[in-house]
Amino acid sequence: MTEEIHIVGGGMAGSEAAWQAANRGCRVVIHEMRPERGTFAHKTGNLGEMVCSNSFRSDDHEQNAVGLLHWEMKQAGGLVISTAYKHRLPAGGALAVDRERFAEDITDALRSHPNILISNEEVSTLPDDGQWIVATGPLTSDALGQAIARETGTTALAFFDAIAPIVHAESIDMDRAWLQSRYDKGETEEERRAYINCPMDKDTYEAFIDALLAADVTEFHDGETAGYFDGCLPIEVMAARGRETLRHGPMKPVGLTNPHQPDVKPHAVVQLRRDNALGTLYNIVGFQTKMKYGAQADVFRIIPGLENARFARLGGIHRNTFLNSPTLLDSGMRLRSKPNIRFAGQITGVEGYVESAAMGLLAGRLAAAEAAGHPLPEVPQDSAHGALVHHITGGADARTFQPMNVNFGLFQPLEGLRSGRKGRRDRYKAYTDRAKACWSDWLAAQSPAEAAE
Ligand SMILES: Cc1cc2nc3c(=O)[nH]c(=O)nc-3n(C[C@H](O)[C@H](O)[C@H](O)COP(=O)(O)OP(=O)(O)OC[C@H]3O[C@@H](n4cnc5c(N)ncnc54)[C@H](O)[C@@H]3O)c2cc1C
Repeated sequence: MTEEIHIVGGGMAGSEAAWQAANRGCRVVIHEMRPERGTFAHKTGNLGEMVCSNSFRSDDHEQNAVGLLHWEMKQAGGLVISTAYKHRLPAGGALAVDRERFAEDITDALRSHPNILISNEEVSTLPDDGQWIVATGPLTSDALGQAIARETGTTALAFFDAIAPIVHAESIDMDRAWLQSRYDKGETEEERRAYINCPMDKDTYEAFIDALLAADVTEFHDGETAGYFDGCLPIEVMAARGRETLRHGPMKPVGLTNPHQPDVKPHAVVQLRRDNALGTLYNIVGFQTKMKYGAQADVFRIIPGLENARFARLGGIHRNTFLNSPTLLDSGMRLRSKPNIRFAGQITGVEGYVESAAMGLLAGRLAAAEAAGHPLPEVPQDSAHGALVHHITGGADARTFQPMNVNFGLFQPLEGLRSGRKGRRDRYKAYTDRAKACWSDWLAAQSPAEAAE
């Protein structure tokens, strides 16, 4: 048994970090402030709670960088990914899960682990002693946020993403809407019918855009800045960028045929994705919003099929706290000014459940190896984990640093492959093959040290 590791925050990153460190023989204490102290987005006291979408995005490990992260996490015995597969819901090529069962299972696994203790309390300082991993996420409590700002001398940046609304399935008019995954993607009939589609003709689309542009939105609080992350733009902000923007984004009508009017090509399509195992709730895909609640219901009921929709949850806005990691963290994710503190998850400037869990996986392994006195070899930059951690701890330009999703643009180029659109499939396959090989080597290199403990 090695030194105790303290983990602040039991979200995606903290839960995965705890699992990895505990499985390497460390005693782990998870300090999670919920349920004693909540956030506006979390609804339960469970660890690993998904606060918005129920999707871990693409599961394609040959052609997609997120799918590759899934693969790498699975190889490393990741708790988050294995639990996600256990509670998978039909969603075409995406890995969507039943969020309640997912979080309950994560909580049970950590609570019953013999090396893990869960302490429900808020941590409000950065301790001088002991090994700590701070994984407090986009909604880091104010007190701890202030302590981090005091230590780093840098004001943590704050900006807003938005929550997509959730609709009760039985309130959707299936005489107008239909079930189909785009391009009929999926292995099973259930997968190929994973989405509910609501078609719009040109007049309805124009009326919808008018309503979006006219709707009341929630104002920002004093001192808050409105730097939206492009991957999570509110729908009304997208509409304001141009009347056709939504038709080329979340409302694109391609790969879908309306069985009620097979000869009429819809001008736009709104898609809803299943949100629970029972199939009673559906979220409107890509419809994050900061419209006021009253306005939201009116605007969304313009959508054909949703005229009588009942909303289980309306959309909302939220804060996101993250460090300027390229200047503050070393390659092992330690705070340069206080190396007994590591950071993990969204607070390091990655974006998304998968990326946050992946950074937790690395932090847990790195901390455990350090505690055991067997420092790990450098995380291979050609793996998805390595590409991401390299980006946030040094690859990115610190002056313009913004949260980052994993993507092939973070990978070192491969020589001798065809560039452009035509070569894309071969190129992506080559990236993922290379990543899998070096990630497997990195994991194998840790076994002797672990075995020697
Ligand atoms: C409203 C909202 C919607 C989002 N939607 C999506 C989405 O649809 N898809 C997606 O991939 N990502 C989404 N994100 C980003 C999402 O939060 C991250 O992807 C992911 O949850 C980050 O994981 P994490 O472990 O870093 O933080 P979290 O999962 O938030 O976990 C942090 C934990 O730390 C705890 N905590 C905070 N401060 C303290 C403290 N001082 N002491 C003790 N405990 C503390 C919190 O209670 C929380 O449990 C959203 C974020 C928000 C806020």
